Amino acid sequence: MPPCGFPLRRIAAIALLAFACHWLHAEQAGAKSPPVAPVVIDGLGKGTFPLSGPWQFHPGDDPAWANPAFDSSAWEQLTANQSWGAQGHVRLTGFAWYRCYIAFTPAPGVPPRFSLLVPRIDDAYEIYWNGSLIGRNGKLPPRAVWYTSQPEQTFGLDPVQHSQVQHGLLAVRVWKAPLLSDDSGENGGFEAAPLMGSSEAIATARAAHEFQWLRSRQLHFGANLLCAVIALLSFLLWLRAPARWILFWTAGFALAQPATVLLLNAHMGWRYGLAMGADQLVGAVQDISLWFLLLWLLPLRENHAICRLTRTLACVYFVNSVLDGILVVLTWNPQWTGFAQTSDAISTAISVALEAFPLFLVGYAFFHRRHFNPARWLVAILAFLDGMMIVFVNVVKQGRQFTAWPIASRIDSPLFFIDDNGISLSTLAGSLLLIAIVYAVYNSIREDQRRQDALELEKLELLHESNRMRHQAEHDGLTGLWNHRAIVDRLGEEISRSTRDKTPLSVILVDVDHFKKINDTFGHLAGDLVLKEIGAIFTHYLRPYDYAGRYGGEEFLILLSNCGMENALHRAEQLRQAVESARVVDGETILQVTASFGVTSAFSSHYETETVIRTIDAALYQAKKSGRNCIVPIEMNTPLHRS
Ligand code: GH3
Ligand code: MG
Ligand code: MG
Repeated sequence: MPPCGFPLRRIAAIALLAFACHWLHAEQAGAKSPPVAPVVIDGLGKGTFPLSGPWQFHPGDDPAWANPAFDSSAWEQLTANQSWGAQGHVRLTGFAWYRCYIAFTPAPGVPPRFSLLVPRIDDAYEIYWNGSLIGRNGKLPPRAVWYTSQPEQTFGLDPVQHSQVQHGLLAVRVWKAPLLSDDSGENGGFEAAPLMGSSEAIATARAAHEFQWLRSRQLHFGANLLCAVIALLSFLLWLRAPARWILFWTAGFALAQPATVLLLNAHMGWRYGLAMGADQLVGAVQDISLWFLLLWLLPLRENHAICRLTRTLACVYFVNSVLDGILVVLTWNPQWTGFAQTSDAISTAISVALEAFPLFLVGYAFFHRRHFNPARWLVAILAFLDGMMIVFVNVVKQGRQFTAWPIASRIDSPLFFIDDNGISLSTLAGSLLLIAIVYAVYNSIREDQRRQDALELEKLELLHESNRMRHQAEHDGLTGLWNHRAIVDRLGEEISRSTRDKTPLSVILVDVDHFKKINDTFGHLAGDLVLKEIGAIFTHYLRPYDYAGRYGGEEFLILLSNCGMENALHRAEQLRQAVESARVVDGETILQVTASFGVTSAFSSHYETETVIRTIDAALYQAKKSGRNCIVPIEMNTPLHRS
């Protein structure tokens, strides 16, 4: 992880997190205890009451059956308050009708309007009141594949006379799709008798019903909160390390569960159809995020063909889901229902096929790579099981008319309860997968970080080594000054620079006087000590941007940039005195040397390196000739001859 910067960022992240939790909790708490109006069975204005039946049933389809005058006494009688599906119509396909005669007395003073709440019905249906169509849920032939999880329908009946006994026939026309419907069939019909009441009372009952319905299908609140936290943290971390897309996809995957709860449970004041449409997109984002997570974790990222395929399919899936979401919204308008149903058949087929894509990724990785770490293996296995379950449920559901296997609906329905929250096999697999993903992503980031740290260290060591070698190649081992090649190169560079910048450059050549004698008298080691001391003197007296190098045995070249002749002579004198007054201690012996200096200065015109050295060499020669321990200046362009 990158080091954490200013603590304000952390505080902001925590505040954001706290706000998100609070918001989620408020939504949840708000939905938990809706203000319940008192139930008064006979008063439409004050509460709700069930239309218990008795209901009658007939398979087939005839528009005349909506008419109250039609005699249905020969129809099958159903038990009140029991799911129709539970009464032997589970494997029914095609059309069927349910009818119920009811009578009620509205309470005095109640507005002449009431609503009907039809508990969860999974199939396409139309509801008729005394022969006229009053409601539908948009799941009708020719392609009855439209599935909306909206569990109830509320609609108004208008007008209703005050204080009179109302007689009427409620007829329900149902279409159970033979194929491609994701209805398990077990709830084929009302889960309980429809409720009647005022619009407000029905709205209250509906909110409570929706909440119960969602609670029974979602992991409990804490798990959703955890998903939201994981999503938020992953997203914040991704903002700080945008190259780590694995964090982005983790956020996408983790967000789906709480987003679904927010959309469908709290649905934030949106129209239910809009929330359902948006939820299609959330589902797609989760699936696509899982694909990219698998690319990272398996790891298949270096396989270009697989990456390209994943990206293409992700685009297809996303566009398909956007269209699907729009269709869900449109189907709330009866005008669009037919078109929406046809298109939905296509989009359902596409998404079912694409939901199997993780199986392909895991299978491919399994056959081509054998060295996953355990965390990645866990994700692969869970993703495989999750994908298998989706495909299995879809296939089993579509084929339920032929197989009559009850297992498909069991996968969706709660296996066990924690604190009244139903936990189904699919939510369990989904949560395990999320936990495994978080673990694997954490591991992968740590691995990445460790690898990066090791690389960084190796880079530093290499840099250090190359600096050391470069220093060695350019410096003299004895004095630590620049060596011959390096000082001559610098001289060339400095000449060019002084010509370009029009600044003066002075060059000094130093030769130790009678050095051979030192060697001969005190030995070469003593001579070395003297050379070392002279090197130290030069380093001490020169400016940081001057150069001093060992030109030869006991000869030194000094470059003074941006320094004219007058200054150079002054500096040379300083050095001469320093050398003269230095005392080199070699055991018992104290050595003292002098040196001769040749000085020249160039300004504004370009000279060859050799010309400068030859000129200054002549000056040094003059210094030796003049008795040593002295400084001889020389102008460039002086005719050179040794005499
Ligand atoms: P002059 O005043 O005319 O310069 O006399 P000199 O003795 O200094 O001149 P010469 O060129 O004859 O002697 C230079 C000596 O420097 C010869 C060589 O043995 C010695 N020398 C060269 N490199 C080194 C070194 O690295 N260490 C030691 N101790 N001596 C060196
Ligand atoms: Mg010499
Ligand atoms: Mg000498």
